[in-house]
Amino acid sequence: MTSELTRLTLSGALERLSRRELSAVELTAAHLDAMAAARELNAFITETPDCALAMAEASDARRARGEVGPLDGIPLAVKDLFCTSDVLTTAGSRILDGFRPPYESTVTARLWQAGAVCLGKTNLDEFAMGSSNMTSAFGPVRNPWTRPGENEALVPGGSSGGSAAAVAARLCLGATGTDTGGSIRQPAAFTGTVGLKPTYGRCSRWGIVAFASSLDQAGPMARTVRDCALLLEVIAGYDPKDSTSADLPVPRFSAAVGRSLAGLRIGVPREYRVDGMPDEIERLWQAGAAWLRDAGCELVEISLPHTRYALPTYYIIAPAEASSNLARYDGMRYGLRVQGDSLTDTYMATRGEGFGAEVKRRVLIGTYVLSAGYYDAYYLKAQRVRRRIADDFTQGFEHCDAILTPTAPSAAFRAGEKMDDPVAMYLNDVFTVPVNLAGLPAISVPAGLSDDGLPLGLQVIGRPWDEETVFAVAAALESAAAFDHLPYGLEA
Ligand code: GLN
Repeated sequence: MTSELTRLTLSGALERLSRRELSAVELTAAHLDAMAAARELNAFITETPDCALAMAEASDARRARGEVGPLDGIPLAVKDLFCTSDVLTTAGSRILDGFRPPYESTVTARLWQAGAVCLGKTNLDEFAMGSSNMTSAFGPVRNPWTRPGENEALVPGGSSGGSAAAVAARLCLGATGTDTGGSIRQPAAFTGTVGLKPTYGRCSRWGIVAFASSLDQAGPMARTVRDCALLLEVIAGYDPKDSTSADLPVPRFSAAVGRSLAGLRIGVPREYRVDGMPDEIERLWQAGAAWLRDAGCELVEISLPHTRYALPTYYIIAPAEASSNLARYDGMRYGLRVQGDSLTDTYMATRGEGFGAEVKRRVLIGTYVLSAGYYDAYYLKAQRVRRRIADDFTQGFEHCDAILTPTAPSAAFRAGEKMDDPVAMYLNDVFTVPVNLAGLPAISVPAGLSDDGLPLGLQVIGRPWDEETVFAVAAALESAAAFDHLPYGLEA
């Protein structure tokens, strides 16, 4: 169920609010209605309607007094990996059963400080481990998109699948996501929405449930490039509570949207032409290159020679960090406790019941690669390869100002597909993972439909701290692609 109000973009809604043609309460109520009518998507783990309406009323009161924040009255959804004060925070896992954090993450605190309204907490792969949202302890999320004329459930991508589905189905005007290996960009691509992973250190990780701390980054998801830029302006910035957050000024990212691209050099990495890549992905990539050429860019072929080592490297480093981060879930401090006969039994029973299969797989892999005797062969080696991958990008950026690639090697797949083959699932991140290993900013923009009518995304990768060029290039792709399709059920 969409309405005129839920179809607004975030920037469109801000204009209407500022012209007093619309109140925050009306806007919020329209989104709460849409959420209630779309429960079969399972996009939310927790809806917070009372809190949303109270925040919307407070926003209207502020506006009446002339004290508006940059996002005042904008209803947003929050990935359930961000701690929200006194609101259930699950990370998609049973092990955090009943956990109501006594504090608010920096990113969400900044959103509320800017006047935004919290609609609820979105579903995700357990501890953000996945590319399909099938690993959530709260059940899979359904992509609002289906193949035309079919009703078969497709995945929304992962791990920020609930946020992506909520944005695509017009249940919110924007959402937060986190991206460790592609979890903002791949679900954005699968749902025809825009998602940006900022430079590592641009947004504070404080209060975000940790998966792999050297890779995790929070970022915005919305329906337009401009809307993502507006969200990033609010959530970015130095935070003394996160030692990896960068003490750099936050540019007005939205000013880069619509900027001329004349003379910009766009790199096309040769190694991203992977074996078995479907023709339609190749065609989309070519179309993107042609649009940027028309916008005044020079297209240059570049080489990122260590690309093929990125997935294996990621699947050593991410599980290693995860096994260490997840050691804190022992039944003593938060969430679930399954009592055993001894302390050790209690640990084992709690973790045995509290974690799902994918999380256990990663804890086992991570513990193995960090164990004495294997540490040098796996973990240290992976760290060295990670450096090579980052160096590839540094060298690539000597020849170009931004890089254009597909976001994912396929469109959304069927719910349940690839579940018995973790490696096939991991391959879906082939174009997104290298970016996290190098700490770079990258965005996914909807660029067209697949042969069977599903959204496909293009990825723009930038130099560290150069989100502005990423936004400028993404905006050019967005306007050339003119992707205005709605999920099929929402057309009416
Ligand atoms: N799909 C990747 C994984 O499972 C990335 C997840 C993420 O970015 N959080 O690790």
